[in-house]
Amino acid sequence: MNLTPESFQRIVDNLHDGLYLVDRRRVITYWNKAAERISGFTAAEVIGKSCADNVLSHVDGKGCALCAGMCPLAETMCDGRLRQSDIYLHHKDGHRIPVAVRASPLTDAAGNVVGGIELFTDISHRAASELRIQELERLALLDGLTQLANRAYLEREIVSRFEEIRRFADQTFGFLFMDIDHFKAVNDRWGHGVGDEVLKFIGRTLTANARPYDAYGRWGGEEFAGVIRCIGAADLERLGNRLRCLVETAFVVHEGQRISVTISIGATLFRPDDTVASLVRRADDLLYRSKRDGRNRLTLG
Ligand code: GH3
Ligand code: MG
Ligand code: MG
Repeated sequence: MNLTPESFQRIVDNLHDGLYLVDRRRVITYWNKAAERISGFTAAEVIGKSCADNVLSHVDGKGCALCAGMCPLAETMCDGRLRQSDIYLHHKDGHRIPVAVRASPLTDAAGNVVGGIELFTDISHRAASELRIQELERLALLDGLTQLANRAYLEREIVSRFEEIRRFADQTFGFLFMDIDHFKAVNDRWGHGVGDEVLKFIGRTLTANARPYDAYGRWGGEEFAGVIRCIGAADLERLGNRLRCLVETAFVVHEGQRISVTISIGATLFRPDDTVASLVRRADDLLYRSKRDGRNRLTLG
C-alpha cells in the first residue's frame, strides 16, 4: 500500500489521540486536531512555541512542573528510548486534564535524533474510575473478584439519587438489573475458575463502556446492576441493549474454545413513590420476564 503524504496527513489529523511533533529545541512543529480538542489550544496558537516555554505546562501526579526541566519527550530525545507516563496537561480554559503520553524520538535517515513525537490520550474517564476504586476499597464497598462496586455501594448510590431528585425535581434516573443466562451450566462445564473469569470480563465490559457519572456494580452471585443518571426510557433501553450486545460478543478463550455468555436485563426508571426495595423489586420482576421470554433480552417497564 502506497500512502501519499496527503492521505497520511489526513490519517494523523483524524487520530483520536492528540499528537504533536517538536524539533530538537522542543519547538512545536505539528499539532493535530485531537490535540486541539483535548487541550483547547489550536495549532496556530502552539506551533512555533517551545514546549519548554510552559505552553502546555505538563505536571506529574505530585504537581511538579515537567516542561521547564526534563519532560518525558526531552528525555526521549536524549537517550532515544520510548517513554510512557500518565501526566496532567493544562487546558486552555484553565483546568487540568489527565492524559497518558507516549513519547518517541524522530530520527533522520542516518539515525540522528531530529526531534520528538508525543501521542497523548485523554484518560479523564479512566482517572474517574480509578479514583472510584480507591474510594470503594477504603470504604469496603468493593467486590473483590470483579473490582466493581458491591451491592452496599449500589444501594447507597440509589439513595443518593433519591436525595438528588428531591432537591432537583426535574431529574430522573434509571436502574438496570442484569443476570447471566444459564451461568450454572458454564460452571458445570468449565469449572468455577472459568466462571469467575466470565464474571470479571462482564464487569469490565460494563465499566469500560460506562458514562463517567453512572455506577455499575455486582449485586451478588451472577447478578449485576447499573444506576444510570439523567436518562429517559428510550435511552435507557438503548443503553441497556448496547451493554447486552457487548456482553454477548465478549469472550474468554479456555482450552482453545471461546466461552461467552448472554445476559437478561430488567430496566426501569425511578418513580416518585419508590423506595430502594420497590425499585429493585420492579427491576427484578422485569428481569424475570426477560428470562421467561427467552433470555438475552431487555424488558423495560
Ligand atoms: P438463569 O438463566 O435462569 O439465570 O440460569 P442460571 O444458571 O444463571 O441461574 P442459577 O441461579 O441456577 O445459577 C447461578 C449460578 O451462579 C450458580 C452459582 O454457582 C453461580 N455463581 C454465583 N456466584 C458465583 C461466583 O462468584 N463464581 C462462580 N464461578 N459462579 C458463581
Ligand atoms: Mg441469578
Ligand atoms: Mg443467571
